[in-house]
Amino acid sequence: MNSKEFRKNAHDVIDWIADYMDGVRDFPVRAQVAPGDVRAKLPAMPPLEGESFDQLMTDFKDIILPGVTHWQHPRFFAYFPANVTPESQLAEMLISAMGINAMLWETSPAATELEEAMMGWLKDMLDLPRAWAGVIQDTASSATFCAVLAARERSTDWKVNETGLQHAPKMAFYTSAEAHSSLEKAVKMAGLGRASIRLVPTDKDHAMQPAALAAMMEEDRKAGIIPAMVMATVGSTSVGAADPLKAIGVIARANKAYFHVDAAWAGSAMVCPEFRYLLDGVEGADSFVFNPHKWMGVQFDCTAHFVRDQDTLVRTLTILPAYLETREGSTVTDYRDWGVQLGRRMRALKLWFVIRLRGLEGLRSMFRGHVAWAKDLAATVRDTDGFELVTGPNLSLLTFRLLKEGLDTEELDVLTEKLLTLVNDDGFTYLTRTLVNGRPVIRFQVGQVQTTKDDVMAAWARVVELAKAV
Ligand SMILES: *Cc1c(COP(=O)(O)O)cnc(C)c1O
Repeated sequence: MNSKEFRKNAHDVIDWIADYMDGVRDFPVRAQVAPGDVRAKLPAMPPLEGESFDQLMTDFKDIILPGVTHWQHPRFFAYFPANVTPESQLAEMLISAMGINAMLWETSPAATELEEAMMGWLKDMLDLPRAWAGVIQDTASSATFCAVLAARERSTDWKVNETGLQHAPKMAFYTSAEAHSSLEKAVKMAGLGRASIRLVPTDKDHAMQPAALAAMMEEDRKAGIIPAMVMATVGSTSVGAADPLKAIGVIARANKAYFHVDAAWAGSAMVCPEFRYLLDGVEGADSFVFNPHKWMGVQFDCTAHFVRDQDTLVRTLTILPAYLETREGSTVTDYRDWGVQLGRRMRALKLWFVIRLRGLEGLRSMFRGHVAWAKDLAATVRDTDGFELVTGPNLSLLTFRLLKEGLDTEELDVLTEKLLTLVNDDGFTYLTRTLVNGRPVIRFQVGQVQTTKDDVMAAWARVVELAKAV
């Protein structure tokens, strides 16, 4: 494809994208295909000769699109959002056109320096400590993995990096049962074993109990086990619970444990001063992660990872083979030393475009709308016969289940699960399930960029309608 053909095809693609933005509402939210449907339509063999672009676009529409779950649908209330704004898309086009590898300062000074500047902006926007340093990772899972490695190395004076785990003392990692599974994955990948994870009990609001954390650390220390790290969550995946950061930070410090805070979803909303109280005490953390690629509209992938002491992270991850030495040396930031990957995409441009074009007030009004509509919905759920509001809203996330006279909890749980299947097969909206105190509930998370209050209420009306059939 030469540049002339590219220009023509690209215009067609842009037209398709703009139409998609306008028309996404008309698709079922969750793909309505069975396993294998898409695969069956794909040729087993690659073509010998290059095919026409028009044919490819036709196949994209006929084969791929029906198998797509529409995360940008305004009635997507499942999981957490993975928002795409038009502003972010424009930046992503430029990023992909330049195809930069931002592993070293020298391999694109603008990528590194814009990343440093954007992490500075985000610190300011979330009112994080000015002395912290930041890096963009691909996902929160990667940032949490880095935190586990940094905790492991700091706790053993960087000995595991040198001589491996076979000579290391036992370490323990603390979090609550509400925490994201990425911690367990990280601990396993770090070679520390699932058995080193301690799940601290939670209170009635599903927040970690600091006194229980202190007692568990004390017990481990008595047994000769090093309390290496505690991970607190602000905005848990299940119900949006927030752990008390201040009290946890005090206990972590007293035990010399690394303190990591996961606000993957909720962090974006902290741009609103009225929600910032949820981060009270974050200044006591060693690291903090949130995903602009969830709620902020900076499309996947873009994870903001902040650290109190960049030397701890860099010392844990640095490598310097001869082919990566540059004459600038330590006078510049080489972000390859800040994460798992060597090669890294330029991601800061998306932040720059979204923040500049929307402005802080533009972002705030989106978060405020979502939170307000979730509050309205919670009131409606409370007032609807046959339903029980179980948690929330915590920011814009609530959970509910069915409630019927004369049925025991087991029967009700079966009906709640059945309702969710009906809702998602129907396609008008898309919700996910979770467990609260061991019982299934349906999550409703308001957070898609194009969502309106009418979308929220229309989705709820459909849920109520479908519940009649259960
Ligand atoms: C989504 C989420 C994660 C994982 O995010 P990735 O970027 O997909 O790794 C971790 N923690 C919480 C609280 C989340 O909501």
